[in-house]
Amino acid sequence: MLHAMDLTKRYGDVTALHGFTLDVRPGEIVGLVGHNGAGKTTFLDIVCGLVRADSGTVTIDGRTPRVARGKLGVAPQHIALYPGATAREHLVLYGRLAGLRRAALTAGIREAAEAMLLTELLDRRTGLLSGGQQRRVQAAIALVHRPGLLLLDEPTAGADPQTRQSLLTVVRDRAAAGAAVVYTTHYLPELAELDATLAVAKGGRIIARGTSGELLRDLTDEVRVQTDDEEIRMRTTDPASTLVELLSATRSPVRGIDIRKASLDDLYRSLA
Ligand code: ATP
Repeated sequence: MLHAMDLTKRYGDVTALHGFTLDVRPGEIVGLVGHNGAGKTTFLDIVCGLVRADSGTVTIDGRTPRVARGKLGVAPQHIALYPGATAREHLVLYGRLAGLRRAALTAGIREAAEAMLLTELLDRRTGLLSGGQQRRVQAAIALVHRPGLLLLDEPTAGADPQTRQSLLTVVRDRAAAGAAVVYTTHYLPELAELDATLAVAKGGRIIARGTSGELLRDLTDEVRVQTDDEEIRMRTTDPASTLVELLSATRSPVRGIDIRKASLDDLYRSLA
């Protein structure tokens, strides 16, 4: 569905992308991760047609981003809404721009609003909504025309647990229905919940690509046991067994236990 090959982009002295290559198949959710400044948003901007690459190619379903625009659903990292317009007016506008009319438009708005818990808020001006509610409108705009390719740039930033859960559910549903999804986040558990494959960006290119099972296999969790006398920390790939072993070996009273799951930082360190 999305094919990006050897993209390069410079902003003056800064090289934002340097040989960035990524393919996403229909039905696949790719978790695009990487430190701040790794080039993730620049890549998404090029796929949207907002920024032109200096070299390299991008195709969506075999066509250029400009021609394939109607197939794209985009939730940008920064909220970009018209404060004086209602949530419904936004969905009508973006639905129409994507070619929806009459019954299809009404159904698209209803579905997107239900998925993002916006049904009761549709006729409120977006400038009067909370930050999390605005983020829900932004996500609904990406969904309204049932696009074949979803680009979601940190869509859960600042979202409450309920909003976050709704978003993860709808992303999974859309992928199950055949949409290709690129999802950037700094939060690994979200990608596990989405059953996403991972693409790790660094210095403007993808340095690792694979299932989370493949990339995270060698990462260890950390088990911590706090007793009256000491804090024991042990790294392990089998935290449950390690915890049982530590608890049965310790003689002093146990005051606390903790299992720290492997994080994206652990992944970046292992790749570095
Ligand atoms: P984050 O996780 O912080 O969102 P990112 O991986 O999305 O980071 P980008 O926003 O793509 O990173 O930025 C890549 C590099 O390009 C950074 O060094 C950034 O400062 C630079 N950059 C991005 N946009 C511009 C611009 N319009 N003008 C100049 N430099 C830019």
